[in-house]
This record gives sequence, C-alpha cells and structure tokens, in this order.
Amino acid sequence: MDLRNCPECGKLYINNNFQLCPDCRQRELDEEDKVAQYLREIAKASIAEICQATGVKEKIVLRMIKRGRVTGQVEVSYPCEHCGRSITEGLLCASCNERLLSELPAETKREWQPGGQKLSQRRNEKMYTGRVQSGKD
Ligand SMILES: [Zn+2]
Ligand SMILES: [Zn+2]
Repeated sequence: MDLRNCPECGKLYINNNFQLCPDCRQRELDEEDKVAQYLREIAKASIAEICQATGVKEKIVLRMIKRGRVTGQVEVSYPCEHCGRSITEGLLCASCNERLLSELPAETKREWQPGGQKLSQRRNEKMYTGRVQSGKD
C-alpha cells in the first residue's frame, strides 16, 4: 500500500491519481464546479475576481486553468509561470514561450507549437462545457 500525506490537509491517504486525499479531492471537484458555473455567467475575469466571487482558493483556480478546464469560452488572466506577466492561455507568456522553444531540442518542439496538444485539449473542453450539467470525471 502506497500511503501519502495529503498536501492540502496533511492526512494520510492511499496514493491515487489526484495527489489529494479523497476528502480534498471531493472538495476540489465541488470548487471546480463553482468556478465553472461562475465562468459560464461571465466572459472575462482575472483569477482574483474568480476567487473573490466564488471563495475558491487561487491555487485551485490556477490548477484548473493549467489542466485546460477553463479555457475556450472565457478569458481568464493569470501570471506567466516564469516572469509573472499577465497571460490568458498556456503556462507561459509569448516571450517566455519563445525562449523556451529556442532552448528545447528539436524533437520536443512539436508538442509546444500551435495545432499540437493544446488545441485538441481546448476542443475537448468545449465539448465538455457544452453539455448541460455533465457529470464529474
Ligand atoms: Zn486532504
Ligand atoms: Zn513570461
């Protein structure tokens, strides 16, 4: 049995895919619902506005964005992972992205380019949010 300490509450739990204990995972799902619902009503918001309106922690909102769960229909601004500049998609701003690309070996570049993974992710997200009250994954 692979026991871990939950990074949220510190409780011991059996390791799963979510890196969270079942309680915190459930709470996270509820909070993601709240954020998704809020974002459905508005077109554009900053992370701070989302946190204020929903009471969900910034960390969780950021995690949702990085998983590609809130892109597509709404524009959410958040800081570039590298320099902190305000961006609305991906993990890095355009200039950090460019620099990263120029440093990457050729065979890994493909994944970072437009038309690669990110686009198909967004398409899935649209299908997901398009459904009325779809279940949890
Ligand atoms: Zn926990
Ligand atoms: Zn940057």
